[in-house]
Parts: sequence; C-alpha cells; structure tokens
Amino acid sequence: MAKYIFITGGVVSSVGKGISVASIGRILKSRGISVSVQKLDPYLNVDPGTMSPYQHGEVFVTQDGAETDLDLGHYERFIGVELTQASNVTSGQVYSSVIAQERRGDFLGGTIQVVPHVTNETKRRIKKVAEISQAEIIIVEVGGTVGDIEGQPFLEAIRQMRKDEGRDNVLYIHVTFLPHIAATDEIKTKPTQHSVNELRRIGIQPDAILCRSDKEISSGIKDKISLFCDVDKEAVISLVTSETIYEVPLLLEDAGLGEFIVHRLGLRAEKSDLGEWRDMVARLKASKEPVIIGLVGKYVGLRDAYYSVREALCHAALAHNRDVRIEWLDSEQLDGMADDKLRQVQGIIVPGGFGYRGIEGMIKAAKFARERRIPYLGLCLGMQVMVIELGRDAFHTDKVNSTEFDASSSYPVIDLLPEQNGVKEKGGTMRLGTYPCHLVEGTMAARAYGSEVVYERHRHRYEFNNDFRQPLQEAGLVASGLSPDGRLVEIAEVRDHPWMVACQFHPEFKSRPDSPHPLFVGFIGAAKETLVEGAQTSLPLN
Ligand code: GLN
Repeated sequence: MAKYIFITGGVVSSVGKGISVASIGRILKSRGISVSVQKLDPYLNVDPGTMSPYQHGEVFVTQDGAETDLDLGHYERFIGVELTQASNVTSGQVYSSVIAQERRGDFLGGTIQVVPHVTNETKRRIKKVAEISQAEIIIVEVGGTVGDIEGQPFLEAIRQMRKDEGRDNVLYIHVTFLPHIAATDEIKTKPTQHSVNELRRIGIQPDAILCRSDKEISSGIKDKISLFCDVDKEAVISLVTSETIYEVPLLLEDAGLGEFIVHRLGLRAEKSDLGEWRDMVARLKASKEPVIIGLVGKYVGLRDAYYSVREALCHAALAHNRDVRIEWLDSEQLDGMADDKLRQVQGIIVPGGFGYRGIEGMIKAAKFARERRIPYLGLCLGMQVMVIELGRDAFHTDKVNSTEFDASSSYPVIDLLPEQNGVKEKGGTMRLGTYPCHLVEGTMAARAYGSEVVYERHRHRYEFNNDFRQPLQEAGLVASGLSPDGRLVEIAEVRDHPWMVACQFHPEFKSRPDSPHPLFVGFIGAAKETLVEGAQTSLPLN
C-alpha cells in the first residue's frame, strides 16, 4: 500500500515549491524508495494547454500526451521518472468529471456538493497515481498558496486522506517563505505562523515546515517556528536560495529531511546515496568557460516559458564541461539590429511557439545561422521556421510560409495534415505525446543519437508538407528523421552546414541533468567550436 506526502505552500507563490517536491522525490529515490508525483492545480482550466505562456509559463508534455504544469518537468528531471496524465489534476478536470457523472445520472436523487463529491473525485485521482505507478510513496503538490479560494476543495480532500489512509501513512509538509527585512536585518516568521494557522483552520497540522529564505535562518528562528507552529524542531528545515536548483536535494538531505520522512512514515530504506548527484552539482557549480547561445523567441520576457529548453541547454553544456550563457533575443525586435545581436552568439536556438507574432524575426535568425554557418537547433516551431527560410531562399519568394501564418500561401511548406482540416476545438487537438522516429543513416541527427529509432514527444498541429519535399531536398534540406511509414518529416537538417538540425518534436522534455539529450549535446558541441568574431567560416564542413 502506498504512503502519501502532501505538500502545501504558504505566504507567497514562486518560492520553489515544485523544486522542493522534486528534490524530496530525489532524496527518497536515493534511499531505494520508489516514488511517483502528482500536482493538483486549483485553476478551472481543464489543462494548461490553452493558457498563454505569459499566464502560465511552459506547458510540459508527458509521454502519454498530457499538456501539464511545468512542475512535472522538475519532477521528471530530478527523479528520473516518466509521468503520465494522471500526474496533473486541475479543478477543471475534477469539476467536469463530477458534472458529467451528474448528467449521466450516477447520483440520481442526490444533491451534488463540494464535500463529498468534488473531494471524493479528487481522492480517487490521487489514489489512481498510486495504482498506476505502484510506487511506495506518492508525493502530491497542491498548487497555489493556502488561503486561495479555489484551492480549498483540494485541501479538504488531502485532509481527509489522513483519516482514510491511516495516520502513519500520510505526511504533510508546508513550504513557506521567510522575508528578510533589510532595515533591521531580521528574518520574520509571522507570515509563516499565519499561513500555518490558515492550514490548521482547515484541519491540517503540518508535520514539517520548509522555510525558504534568502538568508540562513538561525536556531532561534527555528525554535520560534517550532513553538508557534507546533512542529518538531528537527522538522523545521531551512532552505536557503541556492546557486543551482539541482543543489536543493543535497540541502534537504543534509538538513535531515530524508531521515525525518523515513522515520515518520516508518519506511524501510537503504542508506542515502546521492554521491553521483553531488558530483554533478559540484561540476555544475565549478566555474567553466561559457558557451553563448542566442535563444530567439517571442516570450523571452518570461523565461519560465522556455523552462525545459533552458534546462536542456544547461545539461548539454555540462556534458561538454561548459557553462551555458543564454542571450534572450526577442524575435519581435530582431529587425535592423539582428545581425549585431546574432553575431555575438555561438549558437542559435529557436524554440516552440504559436501564432504569427515574432515569426519574421525567427526566420531572420535562421537565415543568419544558415548563411553564416552558425550552429542552429530548431524545436518544433524552430523546425518550421528553418524550412520556411530555406524555402524562401530556394524559391526566391517571401510567399513561402506555414498555413498557420498565411492561410493562402502559394508555397505552404508547412501545413495541416489533410485529416486535421476539420478540427475546430483548440484544447487537446494537437499531435501530442510520444511518437517513434527513424533516423536516416549518415545524417547529423543519426550521428548525434547513435541509434536507429528514437521516441520523442510532440505538441503541434502543423507538419512538414511533403509536396515540397523533393524541391527542398534539392535546395539542401535533408530529411534526417522520419515517422515509421516515412510520411512525416520529424527531423530536418541543412546539408553542408556545421550543425543546422531541427525537429518537429520537443527533445527538451526528455533531457535530464544526469542524462542530457543527444540533440542538445550535438548542438552545444558544435556551438562551442564557433568563434564569436568572424571565425565561423573556418569550421570544417560536415
Ligand atoms: N505552431 C506550430 C504548430 O502548431 C508549432 C507548435 C510548437 O512549436 N509547439 O505546429
């Protein structure tokens, strides 16, 4: 039978609750305990797939094609698990399934209420993760902060879980923030006391409190929190802002959290083995020569929009013993100054995106990369942009486009598949999740992967248009990754270029700090050889 750890947040959001959850997963895994994770998001959207990156940051895609919260990315990267759609539950999903049951007549005669109907549906979904994963520990993060109106039914559901599952099988951890007042050089505990009071009002007494702060907290502060919040002092864990997120499992382990959880839940565990993780963090923190990558996108003002891309670049750079320095280039502003900005980077990456805004700047960046022989990695939209740019050059017209941006283009090199043409709804109607991709021998992609078939995650509507495969191949395009039936171009690259590789899928979702993604490793490998000032032409031909 699985045991549960529920994580709530207090005081303010964005203090790294997701990273803490992922880190707890890692420290348990390092003791030989199997772990699965779930995020309960209180908003009413069915999934974040229809939300703007400005609202929500990146949409993370699981192998089974769920569009989920970016915290699932942290969980997968830290714990090394592959999660499923069951791992992200929103209020929107819970309410729509309760209402669908009501319409079907499942509760005939009854009044449908938050307690017990919404809470029962929530608990059913929590237990489903235990069932699917068969893990010993299920860590469940409740999104938002305690006190949010929307989060109340989830908190009520997790409160009931302690009674349902048995007191020794459920643990509550509250993540708070301790502000530092500069004028008096003091760390304040009052907001934490208030948020713990709010939790208790609902009936949840936390077993441990993770105190996020920018400065180390003293033993006296721990005493105070322990006293006012009624938590053992050993369970008041200080989590000071760290240099790299990957250090957090080490900080929590060293602060005794692993020991506390194992003891409290009566788990049979091995000795903690974080040796390799510790080495990885030491290598990450060591100062290294940087490799400068220009990331050209339209959401660069909000870096969370490209979270997995940023992490994948960092993992791949580490594999080359480099630091990555990302220049965030707003594709809408890549006008006359484009060349100046692009000249200062060693590699260009164009990540995913939707809609016409900013596209022309991305095309400009792809052109720069192709002509100046700067390493380029295109991710989903970044592949479509690369194909459009090559087409414009080959066919000598700016009419070349994707039908997403110009529905009446006479050169629609990127288009919907015929079977997608009738689709009207926006939510959940894309090609989503893992598909196989066969690599074509002798290509850069095949060399990077070193295997024949790979499985990668998709999230897009548009595809490479085969009507143009022949002429584009004549113009220098290489279709280096294909669907098993050969019909879909999944990876494309440019011939006689040091590294210009782009894929229709999102490799960034599969990169891990201890297992970087081959396409990113290949890209950084080429980028690190690129000299910033005019020496690109000395690169050997592929
Ligand atoms: N907008 C493009 C499509 O729908 C690319 C999507 C993406 O980059 N994820 O095909």
